[in-house]
Amino acid sequence: MSPEDCLFCKIASGTIPSEKVYEDDHTFAFLDINPINKGHTLVIPKHHAENIMTIRKDDLAAVMETVRMLAPVIQRAVSADGINIGINNGSAAGQVIFHAHVHVMPRFDGDGHEHWQGKKLTAEEIASTAIAIRKEL
Ligand code: AMP
Ligand code: ZN
Repeated sequence: MSPEDCLFCKIASGTIPSEKVYEDDHTFAFLDINPINKGHTLVIPKHHAENIMTIRKDDLAAVMETVRMLAPVIQRAVSADGINIGINNGSAAGQVIFHAHVHVMPRFDGDGHEHWQGKKLTAEEIASTAIAIRKEL
């Protein structure tokens, strides 16, 4: 997708309005339009990249530095009890907008959101998966 057709490129450039909370030379942070809780923020690189597989190293570093700086700020601002930080990569993982972004999601005790359900794998399955991953390195 070209930056001209990308929603988040348009948000970063100000062509499409957003509730911006922070901006610097390389990153832009704004409130999610469909938040899981108040304060749910998206941090994006200004330079277009589809996701975490293709983002430039320096842009990823800049995005994560903004996340590191903003997470406690957001937590204080909404009096959250904790923060989830998430990146969805690919449709199967829930990515809907194909411009790399990090979700910073305030959490509150008893807010009703569930954590991942663990899958029951045998020790052999876990070990063979580790072998497969190491072989791909
Ligand atoms: P993902 O599923 O990781 O691709 O997340 C995309 C996120 O972008 C979702 O949480 C949406 O609610 C959010 N979103 C989509 N359009 C907008 C918009 N115009 N302004 C702010 N957030 C948006
Ligand atoms: Zn983009």
